[in-house]
Amino acid sequence: MKGVFNSEYMGSKADEELAGIAVLGCPLDATSSFRGGTKFAPDSIRKASWTLETYSPYLKRDLDEMMFYDAGNCELRPGDLEYSLERIETAVTEIVGKGKKILALGGEHLVTYPIVKAMKKRFRDIQIVHFDAHCDLRDEYEGQKLSHATVMKRVKELGTEILQIGIRSGTRREFEELLPVDSPASLAAHLNRNRAMYVSFDMDVFDPSLVAGVTTPEPGGLTFKEVMEYFSVLMGMNVVGADIVELAPDYDTTFVSSISASKVAREILMLLSPSIK
Ligand code: MN
Ligand code: MN
Repeated sequence: MKGVFNSEYMGSKADEELAGIAVLGCPLDATSSFRGGTKFAPDSIRKASWTLETYSPYLKRDLDEMMFYDAGNCELRPGDLEYSLERIETAVTEIVGKGKKILALGGEHLVTYPIVKAMKKRFRDIQIVHFDAHCDLRDEYEGQKLSHATVMKRVKELGTEILQIGIRSGTRREFEELLPVDSPASLAAHLNRNRAMYVSFDMDVFDPSLVAGVTTPEPGGLTFKEVMEYFSVLMGMNVVGADIVELAPDYDTTFVSSISASKVAREILMLLSPSIK
């Protein structure tokens, strides 16, 4: 399953058998309405990881103490959406079937749909925490039922509850359907500790002045520090899977957007790891 570029996420271990977490690239770049380029994100996130420390001063944990491996990129077929979505679902089903947790690196946001489908087979009442500027709750977009703009509607139809953070763009109808979370305290109030949790992280939740390398920049977003405050609420919860999507690295020649995505990835790996103290 290795992609063309073989560099792995910093701190990943070679021993797939022992690792409890898999990093999987899902470079789907098919339905972007404005601008694309998300297919380059998984490798850009890996490359950027080498600029970071393994220690997180936010969550006070170290990647060196964690067992995770980098499974490379799913081999998708550009132009064949059905095949690509099935390929992602199969890869995730396999990983989850081995009792491992997963961090998927998109790709566009539509990847969340096949991933959650796969996760639901094992975790029936999985709860979704969705970071995004956009509701992504349209029933269809540009005539398509399967799109980055409809993905959370499809995920909801699988019978999941979705808590949405950072949302500032959508139709009136989407906003009526939203279950918004506007502070870390309200996230804590909504979460159910006993349920498995999935985090879907659209990079455009950040303010575009901080993270410009996304497909659909939307002014008025969160800072890194604000996101970390939400993550501290998630620490200690039963997070079993996550994705980071919509990074389009080539739109940010400073590379800061890729580094930000990579730093989010580091923190999510910590949320996925059971405490080993
Ligand atoms: Mn978005
Ligand atoms: Mn999105």
